[in-house]
Amino acid sequence: MTRPIRLLINPAAMTHNLGRVRDLLRQATSDFPATPRVWAVIKADAYGHGIETAVRAFVEADGLAMLDFEEAVRSRKAGWTKPILMLEGVFEPDDLQTCERYDLCPVVHEQSQIDMIGAYRFGRPIHVYLKLDTGMHRLGFAPEQYRQAFDALCSLQSAGKLASIGHMTHFACADEPDGIDVPLAVFNGTVHGLPGSRCVANSAAVLAHTRKIVDGIDSGVGTREGGAEDAGCMVSAPSRPSAGPVSAVHWVRPGICLYGASPLVDRPANQLGLQASMTLVSRVLSVRMVRSGDGIGYSYLYRARQDMRVAVVACGYADGYPRHAPSGTPVVVNGQRATLAGRVSMDMLTVDVSHLPRVNVGDEVILWGEGGPSIDEVAQASETIGYELLTAVTPRVPRVLL
Ligand SMILES: *Cc1c(COP(=O)(O)O)cnc(C)c1O
Repeated sequence: MTRPIRLLINPAAMTHNLGRVRDLLRQATSDFPATPRVWAVIKADAYGHGIETAVRAFVEADGLAMLDFEEAVRSRKAGWTKPILMLEGVFEPDDLQTCERYDLCPVVHEQSQIDMIGAYRFGRPIHVYLKLDTGMHRLGFAPEQYRQAFDALCSLQSAGKLASIGHMTHFACADEPDGIDVPLAVFNGTVHGLPGSRCVANSAAVLAHTRKIVDGIDSGVGTREGGAEDAGCMVSAPSRPSAGPVSAVHWVRPGICLYGASPLVDRPANQLGLQASMTLVSRVLSVRMVRSGDGIGYSYLYRARQDMRVAVVACGYADGYPRHAPSGTPVVVNGQRATLAGRVSMDMLTVDVSHLPRVNVGDEVILWGEGGPSIDEVAQASETIGYELLTAVTPRVPRVLL
C-alpha cells in the first residue's frame, strides 16, 4: 500500500467560490451600470491547486492573473482565451516576446520595464497596466512619478507598441476596517482624469470594501465609450446604458477567497459562503497508550498529564504541514475533532485521541479542508496564514482531483 496521505482538490468548490465573489460584487454594486470584472488570481500554481484545474474551474472569470510566465503559457495551452494579467510584469526583454505571442498583459511597475518596451520591436501592440505605489512600498511608481511614467507609456502607445494602458494598485491593509481609505484616495487622486481601466482589489478589499472601491473610483474617461482599448486586454467593454459612476472598466483581483480561505480574521470562510477547495487527508498509522508523565515525540515537547491514547498520523512537515503547529492544533479523526499532542516531525504527527476510544489504525484523518478544521484554523494555531499552507504542500503528496 502506498503511504496514505492525499491532497484532494475540488474544482466545483473553486467554481462555487468564484460565483460567490460575483454575487457579493453584484449585491454591493447593484445600482451601478456595470459590475466590476474579475481577474481570478492563480499565482503559485493556483494557490497549490494546479494551473490546469484552475483554468477549468474559473472558466467564468473575466481574466486570470499570475506572475510566472511558464504558468501563463500553461494557461493558454490549457485553453484559456480571455485576458491574462502578469502581476509583476516582465523580468527580462524576452518576456515581452512571450507577452506578444500569448496575449499576456504585463504590469509595468519599474522604469526598466518601460525601457524594455521602448527597446522591443513589437509585431503587434500589447496591453499593459501601470502600477501605482499607494503606500505599501513594494512595487509601483510613487504618486509623484506616476504621471511621468504614464506619459512615457502614452508615447509608446503612439509608437504602436501598446494597445491600452490600465491603472492598478495593491492595498497593504485591506483586511482592516479603514485600511484602504488613504491608499484609495491616493489612487483616485493620482489617476484622476486619465483614460484606462482601473484595477485595485485583492480578496480582502473585495470582501470588505467593494462599495468604497466602486464609489471612489473616478470614471476617468467618459470620452472613450469603453472600446477594446479600454477594456484591459482583448475583451470589449459591455455596452453601458448611461455614463454612470463607473464608466471606466473596473477590475478586481481576488485570490485566496476563490480557494475557500478567508483573508479576514473576524469572518471565517464558511460565514462568507465560501467552500474549501483543498483538503489534506491521511490515515492513522498506529495507536498507542502513553502513561501519565511520559513524553511524546521529539524533545518530549508534550508530556502526558494523565494516561492517554495517541494516534500517529502519516503527515509531517515534509508534506507541507506546518512544523510550528503546536499541541492543541485541531484535526479531525474519523469525523471527530481532536488535537495535536507533541511536535510535528518530518513524516508523522501525533494526535490525542483519549476521548475517541474507537479510533484505530487506518482511520481517516483530515488535517484541513472539507470535513476537517478549516485551513484558517490550522494557520491561526500555527501563527501563519492560509496562503502559506495552501502553497506549501510538497510534491510528494499525491493530488486527487475530485
Ligand atoms: C496575490 C495578489 C492578489 C490576490 O490576493 P489575495 O489576497 O489572495 O486575494 C491580488 N493582487 C496582487 C498584486 C497580488 O499579488
